[in-house]
Amino acid sequence: QPLITLKDIGRKYVIGTEVIHALKSVSLTINKGEFVALMGPSGSGKSTLMNILGCLDTPTKGEYTLNGTDVSRMSDNELAEVRNKEIGFVFQTFNLLPRNTALDNVGLPLIYAGVNKQNREKRAQQALENVGLGNRMDHKPNELSGGQRQRVAVARALINNPSIILADEPTGNLDTKTSVEIMGLMEDIHAKGNTIILVTHEEDIALHAHRIVRMRDGLVEKDYQNPDIHTVG
Ligand code: ADP
Ligand code: ADP
Repeated sequence: QPLITLKDIGRKYVIGTEVIHALKSVSLTINKGEFVALMGPSGSGKSTLMNILGCLDTPTKGEYTLNGTDVSRMSDNELAEVRNKEIGFVFQTFNLLPRNTALDNVGLPLIYAGVNKQNREKRAQQALENVGLGNRMDHKPNELSGGQRQRVAVARALINNPSIILADEPTGNLDTKTSVEIMGLMEDIHAKGNTIILVTHEEDIALHAHRIVRMRDGLVEKDYQNPDIHTVG
């Protein structure tokens, strides 16, 4: 069933007398359980689209329905609520709190959700075990490798059982071997039924996804199933 429906989405920026159409008209349907790679040259509108998908921004034209709710014209407060409930973010730069342990970083979204400390720690511990970091819970980010930091970030993104994971160049700061490991983790997460949308510049990374959407000049240029992955349904 459609989890995400974008209908004729536009996003323009007005700077003085200049109008930049970052997104001209984007229509897309993404079903629950899809693993999508978003590609395209610099300036093609990927970040603008990810910001809208992640409810950090709203379109200036068109309609965005997320999990049955029209989020296209929501206020910032309403958007923040949807974000906390529906979206897990993974970033290129990990975005972990440097003074906090892996356990506290992973449990952070649960504070917003009003979960008590004991349950936060229990769930964060389980989430860290699920990404293979059960033995690193009390480590701070600078005591972890890049790959381990990204695992912590993935555990944090998953802790609230979001309906979508948005990953923005998650392997952009990792070496090739570690990138492959993190993509293996993304595949495991996808196999458990999660919906993932990932931005990448790297063709090798995109080939882990099941569907590839290529942007150009604020439009979807190509949208196709990854021919290297043979799946039914
Ligand atoms: P990509 O992520 O594919 O590199 P972006 O979505 O960042 O593309 O940018 C698309 C277009 O919108 C570019 O021309 C960019 O300069 C412009 N743009 C992006 N963000 C802003 C902004 N906050 N203000 C003005 N122009 C922007
Ligand atoms: P609130 O207003 O409820 O404090 P926030 O603005 O702090 O909400 O953010 C809510 C959620 O959105 C958090 O999970 C946070 O990680 C995420 N978020 C906030 N700003 C950004 C951003 N610039 N990029 C990605 N995620 C963000």
